[in-house]
Amino acid sequence: MNLLYKSTRNATKTVTASEAILKGLAEDGGLFVPVSVPKLDVTMDELKDMTYQETAYAVMKQFLTDFTEEELRHCIDSAYDKKFDTELIAPIAKVADTYHLELFHGSTIAFKDMALSILPYLLTTAAKKKHVTNEIVILTATSGDTGKAAMAGFADVPGTKIIVFYPKGGVSRVQELQMVTQKGENTSVVAIHGNFDNAQSSVKALFEDKELKDELARSGYQFSSANSINIGRLVPQVVYYVYAYAKLLKNEEISLEEKINVVVPTGNFGNILAAYYAKQMGVPINKLICASNQNKVLYDFFKTGKYDRNREFVLTTSPSMDILISSNLERLIYTIAGQDAVKNTELMSKLKTEGVYEIEPAMKEKLFDFVGGFATEEETAKMIHDTYAKTGYVMDTHTAVAAYVCQSYKESTQDHTKALVASTASPYKFLKSVMSAIDSKYKEVDEFELIDELNRISGVPVPNAIEEIRNAQVRHTRECDVDKMKETVLEILGVEV
Ligand SMILES: *Cc1c(COP(=O)(O)O)cnc(C)c1O
Repeated sequence: MNLLYKSTRNATKTVTASEAILKGLAEDGGLFVPVSVPKLDVTMDELKDMTYQETAYAVMKQFLTDFTEEELRHCIDSAYDKKFDTELIAPIAKVADTYHLELFHGSTIAFKDMALSILPYLLTTAAKKKHVTNEIVILTATSGDTGKAAMAGFADVPGTKIIVFYPKGGVSRVQELQMVTQKGENTSVVAIHGNFDNAQSSVKALFEDKELKDELARSGYQFSSANSINIGRLVPQVVYYVYAYAKLLKNEEISLEEKINVVVPTGNFGNILAAYYAKQMGVPINKLICASNQNKVLYDFFKTGKYDRNREFVLTTSPSMDILISSNLERLIYTIAGQDAVKNTELMSKLKTEGVYEIEPAMKEKLFDFVGGFATEEETAKMIHDTYAKTGYVMDTHTAVAAYVCQSYKESTQDHTKALVASTASPYKFLKSVMSAIDSKYKEVDEFELIDELNRISGVPVPNAIEEIRNAQVRHTRECDVDKMKETVLEILGVEV
């Protein structure tokens, strides 16, 4: 059966998976969603013994129905290979009474690798199927991790160029170094004078700019997106929740049909939405616990039904979650509105003009799968500290937000359902914050010295991604104001207007 996709802002038009991946964002500004979330057609018993790659095929073939088996297997095998430092791809660590699904074993040591290692293959396969002759320009706003992971995936991929915008001063030192040292003739990195929301909103505006689209087409270019608004990013993220459940079962940590809670450190709402899709596919998940840092828009939303971005944007030690406009929430809003594109469009335009919207009680009732929680900076640091003291396990700041929320959820509800925490980054990526949380004496130590110190205290080998930036040359120094992003794109592409 062929699964089709619709925009969250258009009730009638449908596109194939390939078309949705190529476009990234729908022309009406909406996000593509499957007309219905497909069910798994294999049993947990079968999944139990599958490799990551086999699981990926079992899950993704249900979503990307216009890809042939050969095409999809080629994408999967090219993505999940030796770039990952473990054959398991996404191993599970048991930390005290919680399971940490480690999603940071790819080439840029953050969970974005899980999807961005495969997106370039999905995109170039889709382009071939659709006989696209234009060069594809990947335009990406990043809060730190997406940009690097996308460039690592797209560097020197024929027929593509990639331009990444990141907030100057809004990412960690390691994140910035990883980006500005990126190799590949087709990569460009721009620091913008603004925050992530500014970058993301402007990139979205560029996608919706009809004039720009025509200008680019005349020069042989077309845009696509590597942000989690692209369905080609979301689908590969469903895989690891299916895989994790099957592995917990195989390792006899849970019994067949036993429900688990999933806790996800959330920013743009992509990762947790993938868990929601996994649940709809048939994975026995009880609660989806959405963990925020001090930018707790989502916590407030789940509590009150009111989404309000009119608040101070806080820079935290978990910068990849410093977001006030969680793009992927639109897909959930559309779903709980009963796939009502008109209703969703209304709410989204309110968000755009007033910065706030409120859902009606009937919609709020449909959010029973979700629980919101948040951690302050102090709580996050204490979680890192206490976990290390008790178990010797070192986690990064984003994961710590989720681990804290997981713990406080258990304490306040006495719901002791086994919990899986999505562990989204290696502690090596946020060295300063992680090490200072463990011991304040590290506050004064140079970030690069902390690499070896973390290695010493944790015994976790220094990842390749970190070795690479120690001596790498800075290749990208471009900066621009938020209102000059369009000009910057044209300049990079050498398009005269
Ligand atoms: C991107 C990111 C997140 C947030 O994920 P979303 O899918 O945007 O909700 C959390 N942690 C890390 C380390 C990330 O890079």
